[in-house]
Amino acid sequence: MARHLITSAIPYINGIKHLGNLVGSQLPADLFARYQRARGHEVMFICATDEHGTPAELAAAKAGKPVDEYCTEMHEVQAGIARGFKLSFDHFGRSSSVQNRKLTQHFAVQLAKAGLLREVTEKQMYSNADGRFLPDRYIEGTCPNCGFESARGDQCDNCTKQLDPVDLINPHSVISGSTDLELRETKHLFLRQSAMKDQLDAWIDSKTDWPLLTTSIAKKWLHDGDGLQDRGITRDLSWGVPAQFEGAPWSGMEGKVFYVWFDAPIEYLAATQEWADKTGGDWERWWRTDKGADDVTYTEFMGKDNVPFHTLSFPATILGSNEPWKLVDYIKSFNYLNYDGGQFSTSRGRGVFMDQALEILPADYWRWWLLSHAPESADSEFTWENFQTSVNKDLADVLGNFVSRITKFTRSKFGEALPEGGEWGDQEAALIDELTTRIRAYETHMEAMDIRKSAAELRAIWVAGNEYLQGAAPWSVFKTDPDQAAAIARLALNLIPLYAVLSAPFIPDAAETMLGAMQTEDRSWPQDVKAALTALPAGHAFTTPEVLFRKIADEEREEWQNRFAGTRD
Ligand SMILES: [Zn+2]
Repeated sequence: MARHLITSAIPYINGIKHLGNLVGSQLPADLFARYQRARGHEVMFICATDEHGTPAELAAAKAGKPVDEYCTEMHEVQAGIARGFKLSFDHFGRSSSVQNRKLTQHFAVQLAKAGLLREVTEKQMYSNADGRFLPDRYIEGTCPNCGFESARGDQCDNCTKQLDPVDLINPHSVISGSTDLELRETKHLFLRQSAMKDQLDAWIDSKTDWPLLTTSIAKKWLHDGDGLQDRGITRDLSWGVPAQFEGAPWSGMEGKVFYVWFDAPIEYLAATQEWADKTGGDWERWWRTDKGADDVTYTEFMGKDNVPFHTLSFPATILGSNEPWKLVDYIKSFNYLNYDGGQFSTSRGRGVFMDQALEILPADYWRWWLLSHAPESADSEFTWENFQTSVNKDLADVLGNFVSRITKFTRSKFGEALPEGGEWGDQEAALIDELTTRIRAYETHMEAMDIRKSAAELRAIWVAGNEYLQGAAPWSVFKTDPDQAAAIARLALNLIPLYAVLSAPFIPDAAETMLGAMQTEDRSWPQDVKAALTALPAGHAFTTPEVLFRKIADEEREEWQNRFAGTRD
């Protein structure tokens, strides 16, 4: 038995994510976690909400709530949606947890001890009326480039020009509206990533099995221009992990917190500790190589925009601590999913968001489409036509139809139990051969996290059953040789639990329905296809399930297409 530590990039707390976010990390991570569990391996699957930073403060202010209350509520909302999509996290944590606060402070102390932190004095906008420093997004004014009156301190949303707060004409505080702003000196801690450049470079070079998409991004940041830059790890904010605390080897950091990029990945460890504190488990055997984690395989899932942090900044924290923490073994990164001829847009409400998706169709429909079209080697695009075709053909016509056809046929001719009699012949032997070959290929693709290839192989496995049933035609054979028809039905009914076990990582709810209909709890992996197809004996009772997957009608598709075209409020 192997041990798999699996993390999904943690979604930011402000608002509900769209389907592109889902397929970029959480969903493929869930597929891999479910597969490894199904193969009998020990899995720790971790995700969390990323709760600190300016956007959370601003969103809470907009909602008229204290930021901690806002985060608690939004965490519950995101956790509920994750349950709706059947994301099988062992723990869905919160980066604002006590565990993360302590670990983040611990790592900062370790980095300071190793000489990897330095103090930098910068100038930043201070609001006299608000009595605080203002992050760039807290300052608005007129864009010097296009004249837009609500340009932010970091960027103009109208002309997209990157800005500095000092560039703005008539800058004012977003909090109070005050124009009484001044540049003041403020001190911050910087992580000396530049001092770790060679160590990180050698570590990336050792990852010869990583895809070029991942290593090329890391190499670019390591070597482009002046090379890897030092990075501020503190900010003048109140919402976050306090940067001044008991045992801190520095002073003068009162009123400052750690920058969200620094504490968010540490939450992978902290969330595992949250899990341990809740369950009585041992989190260090997943994370400390001196406490049992040396046989753990650690895989991270994320969108390509998160690759620099996970190949450089987070490893710099881990390596720089000089403690035996587990480093990532493999990074599975994704391109973007586009929406119907454009991009998903949270601000314009363009595209399908996770809550809306579950309102119109069950999770399995979305899971199947998203995973079978995962943006692996390039960006991919969601279109309603493609979604309709995929659901109607793959799920309803192939898998759903197979289950419906054989259960209904058997019930009408033999009753609701596996019928007795007959022998297998050449057709059955050919099917077993084909399934054995395809299942071994499916395993190879799943191990390699080749998600589209895995989906294609699974679909081919469903098709093989349909074609067998079509060729063996028990409804015709029954007229002349009922015993032979019974043998065909018995095999085909045994295919249902086999399909359930193989398909569960993709479509867990349908898999449960199929196992329930066949009245079996046996979830063992089909190592031996022939044995699996005789697992349920003659006389074993089953029930005929309701429609497993319904088809999407053209009118529905058109309605949804219009509904999700934009302007969500
Ligand atoms: Zn502008």
